[in-house]
Amino acid sequence: MRNNKTVRNGILIVVSGASGTGKSTVCSRVRELMPELGFSVSCTTRQPRPGEQEGREYYFVSRDEFAARIERGDFIEYAEVFSNCYGTLKSEVLEKIQNGKDVFLDIDIQGALQIQAAAEKDELLKACTEFIFIVPPSLQELEQRLRGRASDSEAQVMQRLEKARHEISFWKKYDYVIENDDLDQAVTDMVNLIRSLHLAVKRMPEDKYDA
Ligand code: 5GP
Repeated sequence: MRNNKTVRNGILIVVSGASGTGKSTVCSRVRELMPELGFSVSCTTRQPRPGEQEGREYYFVSRDEFAARIERGDFIEYAEVFSNCYGTLKSEVLEKIQNGKDVFLDIDIQGALQIQAAAEKDELLKACTEFIFIVPPSLQELEQRLRGRASDSEAQVMQRLEKARHEISFWKKYDYVIENDDLDQAVTDMVNLIRSLHLAVKRMPEDKYDA
């Protein structure tokens, strides 16, 4: 049936996960498989890594510039992660959503919680935002994975595990949880989930199937 009369809004897909759960790998594989997803390029004060390009992975800015952007109200959310600031720009998200494009946000938990709070006061965000959380199959499995990184000391492994335990405790704040036991399965689960999100009646134009 192709009688949709009004353009639907896009979906803002917010993905976070506990440290060490392979979130970045899952997210980049999903983006490869779903090139139609818009990606929001964040601002960060961290230095570019080799191979990263200004405006592709991030907009790399100084701390002063970041502070000025906070002052101007440029961000939907921002947070300090590993001693660097990261922020999602309104300009990267709102217009795309209003034009029916889905936007994929890979951000930390503090940022996701800020978007949830913003959505409480903003009808557009409320209707368009879905929160996905990536978890390891178990803490035991995560510990094994962390120990597999030969570069980390025992103290670092314990520190990372504690951090992950704390992060996992936020899982109920999210709408969906994806367990990354097997990478291919986790990627398939996320692709299927995102496709299913389009089937939600609440997001369809009100006159979509009206005669
Ligand atoms: P990285 O420096 O490795 O690219 O990212 C470090 C962490 O910052 C990741 O967990 C990533 O999800 C998070 N991050 C990236 N961009 C943003 C953003 O705009 N806002 C928030 N809150 N976190 C972000």
